Amino acid sequence: MSKDSILVINCGSSSLKFAVINPATEEEKINGIAERLGSSEAILRWTLRYKNNGEKGSQTLGLAAHEAALEGLMGLLREEGMVEGISAIGHRVVHGGEKFSKSCLVTDEVLQAIEDCIKLAPLHNPANLTGIRAAQKIFPGLPNAVVFDTAFHQTMPAEAYLYPIPYSLYKEQGVRRYGFHGTSYRYVGQASADMLGLDINNSNILVAHLGNGASACAIKNGKSIDTTMGLTPLEGLVMGTRSGDVDPNLFSFLNKTLGYTLDETTDLLNKKSGLLGLSEMDSDCRVIEDAAVEGNEHAQLTLDVFCHVLAEKLAGFAAAMGKIDALVFTGGIGENSSIIRKNVIERLSIFGFKLDEQLNDETFRGKSGVITQEGSTVGMVVATNEELMISRDTQVLTA
Ligand code: ADP
Repeated sequence: MSKDSILVINCGSSSLKFAVINPATEEEKINGIAERLGSSEAILRWTLRYKNNGEKGSQTLGLAAHEAALEGLMGLLREEGMVEGISAIGHRVVHGGEKFSKSCLVTDEVLQAIEDCIKLAPLHNPANLTGIRAAQKIFPGLPNAVVFDTAFHQTMPAEAYLYPIPYSLYKEQGVRRYGFHGTSYRYVGQASADMLGLDINNSNILVAHLGNGASACAIKNGKSIDTTMGLTPLEGLVMGTRSGDVDPNLFSFLNKTLGYTLDETTDLLNKKSGLLGLSEMDSDCRVIEDAAVEGNEHAQLTLDVFCHVLAEKLAGFAAAMGKIDALVFTGGIGENSSIIRKNVIERLSIFGFKLDEQLNDETFRGKSGVITQEGSTVGMVVATNEELMISRDTQVLTA
């Protein structure tokens, strides 16, 4: 059997998402998730993409954690006769600090460096490390590669990544803008250039990755030159439950007026703000859009704040790039919400965008394509595929 597949793993603190992909044909054979890990309700769910238009299955895991989830996955792969076909494992890692500007194979030094970045991503990097160590144990003999969310942004110039705070905090503690969603930007940047027949090395592409987490990126000649997320994924745009930019003095204001501790304000900004906090309805953009369409003015105002912040950031990036070859929407909201795209594109008409309402309304659920009129600056949708990108990198590193 030819070893044509890569196992892609994306490990969170209580979940493990996976996919088996042939990076050459881009075929995704299996995908799935192990959820509620560490609780008695842990469950492994999967879809066999190659069978009967996507045959679904599940298996309870007991009081299981990441290792047991991978054991369950190993059993599934064995049943499906797929173990032999897997040549390597690719892991998503959230934070690579300044150490990693591209993907690499896992070694003891690499594991140590990911551990050193825990102070920058205390929730994510430990979970990512758990996934790598469990994979090394359950799939001995297979090489492991790591693909970092931050790596793509290491090309940003210092003027874009430095914060105007005492310089020693950057030199001694690594306090700077890192940016995230880099794997998605790399995929979407290349895919949009290919679709438009542009040479990526001579292009100016703006990307808005709008999901539960949301950020934007300016990609000049295939390289990130600025992005909205910062030291952590809290900075920048309005998100599902994250505030994005606020006055940092909010910490002392809430402490003095309401007695909030550091942790309470951190929790408020990360989990109770954004679309959820402002709308007082839901973090899901669809719920707010439905309310706005039915005439709820506060829901409309929430959407307008979301689009106002995004349009301002994109306009700033456009100025930094000097030219816009394309504005690309991606992520759950970017790929599906014609309402948000219309709102944002209309705010950016100064840059020559003219929306094609029909194309905009017809582009959703994984469809990619241009949504602006002929003669307009190009606005388009590209369905992102971070798993495919991870499988490609892993393939290249292990070939
Ligand atoms: P994550 O950041 O967790 O990967 P996704 O990229 O999957 O998130 O995006 C999830 C979000 O996409 C949902 O919370 C929802 O707000 C939004 N979304 C999905 N479909 C639609 C739609 N048809 N209209 C508006 N928003 C949508």
